[in-house]
Amino acid sequence: MQSTCDLVIIGAGAAGLAAARAAIAAGLNIELVEASHRIGGRGFTDTASFPAPFDLGCQWLHAASINPYTAIADRLGFRYRRGQFSYRIHDGTWWLNERLVGEFGDSLSATYERIAAAGTAGKDVPAADFIDPADPWGPLFRRAYSGYMAWPPEEVSTYDTARFRFTEEDWPVEDGYGALIAADGADIEVNLDCPVKSIDWHEKELMVGTAKGMIFCRAVLVTVSVAVLQAERIKFFPLLPDWKQDALGRIRMGHAEKVGFWLKRDVFAGQGPHFAMLNWDGAPTAGFLCNPFDRPMATMFASGPFARDLFAQGADAAIAEGKALLARICGADILKEIATARATNWVGDPWTLGAYSVLCSGGGEARAELARPVDDRIFFAGEATSPDGFSTAHGAYNSGVAAALLIAKALK
Ligand SMILES: Cc1cc2nc3c(=O)[nH]c(=O)nc-3n(C[C@H](O)[C@H](O)[C@H](O)COP(=O)(O)OP(=O)(O)OC[C@H]3O[C@@H](n4cnc5c(N)ncnc54)[C@H](O)[C@@H]3O)c2cc1C
Repeated sequence: MQSTCDLVIIGAGAAGLAAARAAIAAGLNIELVEASHRIGGRGFTDTASFPAPFDLGCQWLHAASINPYTAIADRLGFRYRRGQFSYRIHDGTWWLNERLVGEFGDSLSATYERIAAAGTAGKDVPAADFIDPADPWGPLFRRAYSGYMAWPPEEVSTYDTARFRFTEEDWPVEDGYGALIAADGADIEVNLDCPVKSIDWHEKELMVGTAKGMIFCRAVLVTVSVAVLQAERIKFFPLLPDWKQDALGRIRMGHAEKVGFWLKRDVFAGQGPHFAMLNWDGAPTAGFLCNPFDRPMATMFASGPFARDLFAQGADAAIAEGKALLARICGADILKEIATARATNWVGDPWTLGAYSVLCSGGGEARAELARPVDDRIFFAGEATSPDGFSTAHGAYNSGVAAALLIAKALK
């Protein structure tokens, strides 16, 4: 294959698909190339393992009222649930009472507010600096924070908490967020199984080297994860400038993984959907979403270094750990109720290498710098480039649209 076009878009996840649609609408002649055999990237709904869809990646419409996928879900007839799941806390022996759960909720909000206020005031320091050392809920806050951010607060900048556009609407997609992203992109032509290996930008015309041949173009849009860029899966000739590499060095890949357990009967009947948090000395950064959409299911969510190290050992190890933790909080009898289990492996996926991005403490404006084009020819999008929607599918989508409009202007 050898071809010529205006723009090569690398990656058919939320950012790449949104960018492709916007670029085509702007009159650009594009090639969208994707390394894997499917579209959607970190949005992927498994419809084979269980009787109901299971999102291996994104599942919640964060900031739902300002999230473009909410309107897309409405248009395509995808069901989602308004409102949050409640949570419970297990101390290793039993469940804490409602008063204590409420106390934790108050402490969680107050700690988040301190972190956000520090970031807004320009203090680019570890979020953990604002956990009150005298707060008995500190260890549980660390685990909850790691669950949201995919990395522990000791290494995450206050800027991420301060800048994310929260609306307190996290709505889970019943029919699968990954399936929604794929359905939205279904009419866009994608060259699958076509990893990009190199971008040569010596000459005015760029040369994009792929597994299927060379593409010549006027601009390229890179939407791959920061971990894929850091691993240099795509070689740049010449190298990217120092300021871009510096920005890349100030963002790291966080880790989040899941094990879904489908149960033979609804052991949580009557409790409704809820999230079970673990709160004992040495408890791992994990928790269980029980009874989602009133389904007979429990999904372990694991995060941070714990998730990275466990899931890198493979599905059997992750499932065994999930069973041990589930037995500890629900009693060993629950193991007899497990019909099937399915573990994710984002850490081992060569086209992702982790879950989502984290701004390192002291990372400053690295997200905006990552988004900044090089030489008005090499453009960047994807969740990591979004200062106020990072780590999310809608942040990726918006970054793709913004980049496409910038490219259309640059190529005019
Ligand atoms: C476990 C988990 C839970 C999550 N939960 C949520 C949630 O509830 N809500 C939410 O909004 N977000 C969530 N996210 C984050 C969300 O899924 C991502 O932020 C978003 O999907 C990223 O989209 P993207 O387009 O930036 O990147 P990607 O989806 O990673 O797309 C990049 C694409 O580039 C391709 N690629 C990589 N290398 C190459 C190459 N060399 N050549 C060509 N193609 C290449 C990849 O295969 C991929 O398809 C979650 C993620 C994980 C992992």
